Amino acid sequence: MTIPSYRVGIDLGATSTKVVVAVSGDDGTLAVDAVVDRFTFPTPRGSDPVDRLASHLARVARRPIGAGGVTVPGILDEDSGRVLRSVNLPWLDGADLGSALGRRLGFPVRAVHDGRAAAEAEALLGAGRGFADAFVLALGTGIAGAHVEGRRARRGAHAAAGEVGHISQDPDGRLCGCGQHGCLETFIGGTHLASRWSSHTGRPATARDLFEAGHAGDPAALTMIDEATTALARCVLGVIATLDPSAIIIGGGISGARDLIVTPTARKVYEAATFHARPPILSAELGRWAGAWGAVLAAGCPSPEEITCG
Ligand SMILES: [Zn+2]
Repeated sequence: MTIPSYRVGIDLGATSTKVVVAVSGDDGTLAVDAVVDRFTFPTPRGSDPVDRLASHLARVARRPIGAGGVTVPGILDEDSGRVLRSVNLPWLDGADLGSALGRRLGFPVRAVHDGRAAAEAEALLGAGRGFADAFVLALGTGIAGAHVEGRRARRGAHAAAGEVGHISQDPDGRLCGCGQHGCLETFIGGTHLASRWSSHTGRPATARDLFEAGHAGDPAALTMIDEATTALARCVLGVIATLDPSAIIIGGGISGARDLIVTPTARKVYEAATFHARPPILSAELGRWAGAWGAVLAAGCPSPEEITCG
């Protein structure tokens, strides 16, 4: 198969869309320094959003692009490319986004799951490059994990793998959105941290406010963050015991406070490990562009087994 020189990766978010245009090497491989353009623009809404997305892409991506990938913020049938459900972008429900975009843009576009695409990019092009496999944790509003092995994030028998944020650590703990109590997400999910810090301060707050207070040495903030990293370390130990990955990568918006999250979590994991292996625990490197890079990796790959891509 001939690999197109230019590939575009479109990370379709609930509010903003990020686009990476990259050029692949002669052998079809990619590296993060292969980026030639990247853009961010508001995700189209209203009438015919696919058409508006395609028009916008055609205007900004002034390259002879041969293939594209697009992430879907929702549940996707990756075999057919059809979106089963998108809570944040309801216009996607039932859409075959890859085909619809491809028809308008004039090159094949493959739709991929946003979280798994970002994990694959981080494992193959970011902090996980050079490792045989990696477990990638994304700490954001919610918590997701993905084991990337053989260049692909494992989907699971029911396409439901990686929900580590909903492993309960305390059956008597706080109620989680999933209906259980004491899930990891109730300790370190962005929404929970914001809500708990807001309750403590008595005014509206975000998780970022909590970390700023932590950096300033606020004891209550540091206690809350300490509980969060203890819960995360417990989760990481479980992942190590289950999968024995070559590396653990921690990314997502919450992990941006590296000294408050990644470093203490790694210390707690290594302190608590008994029989466990001690893989490196690393900060993610691609940041907010991981999803777009994952879509670039998917571009030009007709099937998950297509190993010449990426
Ligand atoms: Zn839960």
